[in-house]
Amino acid sequence: MLLSNRPQILQELRGDRAHQEISSKLSGYPAAQRLAQEVYDFYAESLSLVARSDFAATTFAINLQHAPMAFVSAEVKLQLGTDRVPEALAHELLHLRLPMLGFPLSEAMWVPLELDCYAGDFLAMGQWVLNVVQHEICFQNFIELGFHKKHFLAKPIKRRDYRKRFIRNLRNADSVEIDFPRWCIAYLSHFFTGRHCGDEDSMRYAQDALEWGSRIHPALKRTTAAINSWFEKGAFKNPFEYPRHVNWLLELMRIPLFSGWVNLKSSEEQIPLAVRITNTGDCGGQFLPPFSLSPFC
Ligand SMILES: [Zn+2]
Repeated sequence: MLLSNRPQILQELRGDRAHQEISSKLSGYPAAQRLAQEVYDFYAESLSLVARSDFAATTFAINLQHAPMAFVSAEVKLQLGTDRVPEALAHELLHLRLPMLGFPLSEAMWVPLELDCYAGDFLAMGQWVLNVVQHEICFQNFIELGFHKKHFLAKPIKRRDYRKRFIRNLRNADSVEIDFPRWCIAYLSHFFTGRHCGDEDSMRYAQDALEWGSRIHPALKRTTAAINSWFEKGAFKNPFEYPRHVNWLLELMRIPLFSGWVNLKSSEEQIPLAVRITNTGDCGGQFLPPFSLSPFC
């Protein structure tokens, strides 16, 4: 018998059918089902669910058309076959709800010409930062939906050998412009896993990254302390302050700033309107890819 290697698409649903399927997978979590209803009421037929057993993780995306500016779709890609399907769905629904609460979407990043060779890296870093910031905004809501805080993220980020990375850095030094934010992210990825999931190992890994990274970049300790204080103050949780504060965080991490922001507004047409809030015309810079990058991200 011949077996096909092609991945099997188990479900690809839109609109009300997507909503019904999401709601049935959230059975036993009435508050999360109400969230699913709220999200469906806003995105309506442009909400889609793709569920497959061979996805490496569950992710979400909000797809925009840039010229002319328009909202296209809101999508959840659900990894089936895990023991945390309701948690993963609720996590992505909380991301999708943020634009409904007035949090703008970042559309583009302005990368200076001399750093153009790192543009892809910076765009990925910018998305990573957005994700972490959004997690800070949504974390408490996740618990209020009836889930355990340890299940907010798919699993802790694995320990990496930062001593080896330090030695590799010495031998084959990348430009400081890209290396500094990489060390910031190494520290913060463990720090926030520990913060959200109460995982003590992650806190140790964060310190490890900080110790080795500081040997190359002495400013790293000061920067990560400033970032921690930025998160504690929480001013980014105000939707109107969010773009300015996210850019401030990027500046601390020495990542190019977002140059374009878009608000989604509900409309009678049953599809949200996308409205640029920065420039009147082309936002400038390089467009961000729509999908989130890290697990349950
Ligand atoms: Zn997430």
